Amino acid sequence: MSLPDLPFNPSHCLINGAWRAPVSGQTVALIDPSDGTELAQIARGQSADIDAAVRAAQSALDGEWGRKTAVERGRILTRIGQLVLENVDLLADLEARDVGKPLTQARADAVALSRYMEFYGGAADKIHGETIPYLDGYTVYTLREPHGVTGHIVPWNYPMQIIGRSVGAALTMGNAAVLKPAEEACLTALMFAEIARQAGLPNGALNVVPGLGAEAGAALSGHKDVQHISFTGSVATGALVQQAAGANVVPVTLELGGKSPQLVFEDANLEEALPFLVNAGIQNAGQTCSASSRILVQRSRYDEVVAAMSERYNALSVGPALEDHALGPLISTRQKDLVTSFLEQGSDLQIAAKGQIIETAPDAGVYVAPHLLLCPDPNHPLAQREIFGPVQVIIPFEDEAEALKIANSTEYGLVASIWTENGARQMRLAKALKSGQVFINNYGAGGGVELPFGGVGKSGHGREKGFEALYGFSTLKTVAAKHG
Ligand code: NAD
Repeated sequence: MSLPDLPFNPSHCLINGAWRAPVSGQTVALIDPSDGTELAQIARGQSADIDAAVRAAQSALDGEWGRKTAVERGRILTRIGQLVLENVDLLADLEARDVGKPLTQARADAVALSRYMEFYGGAADKIHGETIPYLDGYTVYTLREPHGVTGHIVPWNYPMQIIGRSVGAALTMGNAAVLKPAEEACLTALMFAEIARQAGLPNGALNVVPGLGAEAGAALSGHKDVQHISFTGSVATGALVQQAAGANVVPVTLELGGKSPQLVFEDANLEEALPFLVNAGIQNAGQTCSASSRILVQRSRYDEVVAAMSERYNALSVGPALEDHALGPLISTRQKDLVTSFLEQGSDLQIAAKGQIIETAPDAGVYVAPHLLLCPDPNHPLAQREIFGPVQVIIPFEDEAEALKIANSTEYGLVASIWTENGARQMRLAKALKSGQVFINNYGAGGGVELPFGGVGKSGHGREKGFEALYGFSTLKTVAAKHG
């Protein structure tokens, strides 16, 4: 399906405020996963383009952008947020086609992008250093300073939200940014950069170079003039990015996904829990780093939860993103092959329920029906490994100790939730769960741009979102003045 008119050329990079073709002139096809048609040709940026983008970012820091006060930066971010809101329909449309994300979910992401800009715009002048009592005759204080040029390597599953939380926080602290969106989905990254340009962000403060991971991504993560890298994606690629940045002794923030559990105890309010138990697993067809792919249920309510979740699963429809079903397609045939191979590995598990791919779904679309699987063994590969597709396993447990053991048994630790009315249990588990975020009687708290987010273990390190991200995107200088 053809794209709406765009205020930029999708096969160009944005470097130093100007749209231009990549140096090699090469492009890559962008595919609409809902029907397999080509949406556009995008730039296949390579090291020459990354190099130009890094130089543009550095000159922005040495020039107009670097001279902006915190208040001025905040005003620009707020203006970007307002312009994002004015373009919500277009952004949602682009994201739906590009990612295959159902329109309502794509729209929520566009609104979240504007919220990030508003939140960070408002925060820009509220971050400051401290004075430190020290020896007689000294005044000591700290200054929060930007790292400099920051690199942002973004995946295809939530381009707008991830750009909001990482580029938004970086610009707030006065860094300049080079953004490398995913080759599978990058239209909203380009549109966002155009919006930022129109909102008055000085040239070079944000540059966008689409391209392949092994080319543009690797060139950015190993660039010697980049002073911070923020990466969201797979564990394997995250490790490569950290290695490349490590060679330049550059800090990295890694957000690498998870196997996030929801723990349902026998005193849980099931009516409240149910929508979260299902939606947290099937949102964006399960291609969500914080997807809840493990549902742990106390044995006494296991059958009841299976029946109630199954009823919801049976009503789930899967179809083209613009038709706004509960689930759209997966991002690519590669991702479908991966999910299918997991389902084959889980062929020994009983299927409790499956959603339905609508009959009119195009044959060339990348559709997978959501699966709810009964999984008595918490060590089964489907209960341990991140699938990144619409597959949830339900695991029974006897008591709190066993629930905790199972919950903490994977190598990940991104999000967990506890469904119980028992306050003491809530507090005990909130402390003991190996997880970057814990939710009590909810899951995700609506996404909350204000809430620090990030993982432990193989889920990564560093925190994005909220004020915490602003500390990560800045460095602290201590000044000690001796004046007698
Ligand atoms: P990926 O980690 O390879 O890609 C993410 C980003 O990194 C993309 O922009 C890509 O171009 C870039 N990249 C790839 N190779 C690179 C390299 N050598 N150096 C620097 N950047 C590089 O993920 P993928 O291949 O798109 O998906 C594979 C799996 O990763 C998925 O099945 C899923 O399990 C996981 N994943 C996780 C998230 C998340 O939000 N945590 C997002 C996407 C994918």
